Amino acid sequence: MVPRPNATAPVLITYADRLAGNIDGVAALLDGPLAGAFAGVHLLPFFVPIDGADAGFDPIDHTEVDPRVGSWESIAALATRYDVMADAIVNHVSAQSTPFLDWLAHGDSSPTAAMFLTPQHVFGGPPLPADIAMIYRPRPTSPFTHVEFTDGTHRMVWTTFTDQQIDIDVEHQLGWSYLIEILDRFQTAGITSVRLDAVGYAIKRAGTSCFMLPDTLEFIRRLTTACHERSMRVLVEMHGHHLDQLTIAPHVDLVYDFALPPLILDAIYTGDAVALRRWIEMRPANAINVLDTHDGIGVIDVGADASDPSRTGLLPPERIHDLVEAMHDHSGGSSRMATGAAASNLDLYQVNCTFYDALGRDDDRYLAGRMIQCMLPGTPQIYYVGLLAGVNDSELLARTGVGRDVNRHHYTPADIDQELARPVVQRLLALLRWRASEPAFDGSFELLASAPHIVAVRWSSPTSVVTIEVDLVSASVTIDPQTEQ
Ligand code: BGC
Repeated sequence: MVPRPNATAPVLITYADRLAGNIDGVAALLDGPLAGAFAGVHLLPFFVPIDGADAGFDPIDHTEVDPRVGSWESIAALATRYDVMADAIVNHVSAQSTPFLDWLAHGDSSPTAAMFLTPQHVFGGPPLPADIAMIYRPRPTSPFTHVEFTDGTHRMVWTTFTDQQIDIDVEHQLGWSYLIEILDRFQTAGITSVRLDAVGYAIKRAGTSCFMLPDTLEFIRRLTTACHERSMRVLVEMHGHHLDQLTIAPHVDLVYDFALPPLILDAIYTGDAVALRRWIEMRPANAINVLDTHDGIGVIDVGADASDPSRTGLLPPERIHDLVEAMHDHSGGSSRMATGAAASNLDLYQVNCTFYDALGRDDDRYLAGRMIQCMLPGTPQIYYVGLLAGVNDSELLARTGVGRDVNRHHYTPADIDQELARPVVQRLLALLRWRASEPAFDGSFELLASAPHIVAVRWSSPTSVVTIEVDLVSASVTIDPQTEQ
């Protein structure tokens, strides 16, 4: 293992192909120009195929590595030096997967028939419009898709995301065995952390929102036990009301802090960190701290609960409106073209924009935001486009029509050399190396009293004490004692 001076050193999140061609390329970057900055890497879906309807989140074979990016051996080699996180795509498989095609070909006599979820199964008959209206879904369209079987009959299947992603009945033994086979494969390859992708949608019950129900929490606990039995930690991926993250956090190893990106942007735009500081006082410590990921910047995570508006959000509605408009303005309008109904989007509640563009490509503001990400309890996770302070890829968006592609650039080795030479990227790498090696981050955390435009914290361990102050108006960062970065 690469030496890891503190337990929450930064991790990278990346597609293998879009950053470095393949998994060995990611390893070479981590060992080479990025050395010392990262203790681990979340490799976004590398299964067969990496380029389906949802950039790998629609596996045809979840137990095979797409040969275009490597093999289980390349993952195992990476895992000898870095913590490797992989996605368990819990909720669905590709419409081209063998079990689904077998069901289509043989109907109820197929051995895989029970692996898939039909509305019939959940509602005991065709769902009524009122049932459908209750179902929480990231898109306004129906959660069901009509499919034709080889014998000419038609049925509706549950498809939470695209019609190419067929929901699994995870409560049936077949669905459960499918998931366990994936976890066994991960364990053999030395994967240390599992991200439960879109797990909030996995359990469906008639007469409910079919999202994050008490039974879903039970299911997450069961999966967590299965992961722990295989020595793997669990990260639950769920966008939603901030109090729900607080409910889940004690039951799993890690949750995402998805409220952080909108709150940091809001604080930098307005020079007022009161809402951000309020969240810092209550947020879970076992968090993966993000500013950007392969998905958009979620505004739902700071809003009121859609199904119970009495549960207010971290920001009031008018401020969320201003925040979204400010992101679009700062990106010169390029994020507007990629967001909501303007492009084909899997999640209407997210703004598709690189974090660097959301801050108007202002290096100091960008690094101030990154410092806040790094100085809070939790593990900072840096998205590959953010690492290289990337800008919106409007050409890729125009080519694919997929909103999220604006923040999913494909880099060539020559691009990477060029990006790494930029001062903003070098400054970010210096920050990450300091974050990875400073022992104070293993100690205790304190949010210090300060003026509303300042966020100041102190970390104290037996061997080191550091105080960090970020001024949101001047975008300046002060560290005491002073460091080189
Ligand atoms: C992933 C998305 C994906 C969705 C469906 C999310 O959690 O982050 O990229 O579209 O799950 O698998």
